[in-house]
Amino acid sequence: MGLALAGCCLLGALLAQGTAPVQVRVGYSREGRPIEGYSLGNGRATAVIVGGIHGRPELNSSDLVWQLLEYFESDPSTLPPGLKLLFVPEANPDGLADGTRELADGVDPNRNFPTHDWLPGTFGPGKWLPDGGGDGPLSEPETVALANLIQRIHPVAVLSYHSAAGIAMGGATADRTGMLAAYADNSGYPARPFVAYPVTGDFAQWCDDIGIPTVEVELSDHFDPEFDRNLAGAEAALQEVLARYQSY
Ligand SMILES: [Zn+2]
Repeated sequence: MGLALAGCCLLGALLAQGTAPVQVRVGYSREGRPIEGYSLGNGRATAVIVGGIHGRPELNSSDLVWQLLEYFESDPSTLPPGLKLLFVPEANPDGLADGTRELADGVDPNRNFPTHDWLPGTFGPGKWLPDGGGDGPLSEPETVALANLIQRIHPVAVLSYHSAAGIAMGGATADRTGMLAAYADNSGYPARPFVAYPVTGDFAQWCDDIGIPTVEVELSDHFDPEFDRNLAGAEAALQEVLARYQSY
């Protein structure tokens, strides 16, 4: 009786804790910090959720991805059926540790992907970086790590978080699949392009260019992760993609 009771309580405690994520080593930063991924669920299709590309100034994008991971981890019944979620909350760990938006060598990681529009000189908020795009596309260990991850698992969807323009953006693939509209309608972020300055070599643009429906969200400020509205947007967008994937 005592043992049965103990077993029952242990099972209850395990269920209450949810399912621990599987840690995936994505790569290392230039300063040697690990870039970690965390995988939840057993679906045969994977969606990748990325935050912290722009380091400390966009810390709330990391906070949001950690919070989304904790939400789905605490109650596995909330995971979209058939889908595995892979969270990368800190894609630029040097920027987070050093207090910068860029990588340790000054390259902007979100201008270093092999899009059709990559350029060496790049714009950021209130600044022009003559070498912000890097020596060439994927010249940085952080961007190589993320690109290798995407190409290895070929996710059915990518969500990429930044701050702080308060909009949801998507390329032709996100638009065609309905993913962008689903995210915008359910989160309340207007779906419109970023127009403050030209953006080249963008991670989300590259994912969408290679046929992966991708939504890039700019949170409204640099502080609030805006969890509730992004959970609503992410769940709707992933359901939209999954419905199409299952009918392939
Ligand atoms: Zn950003």
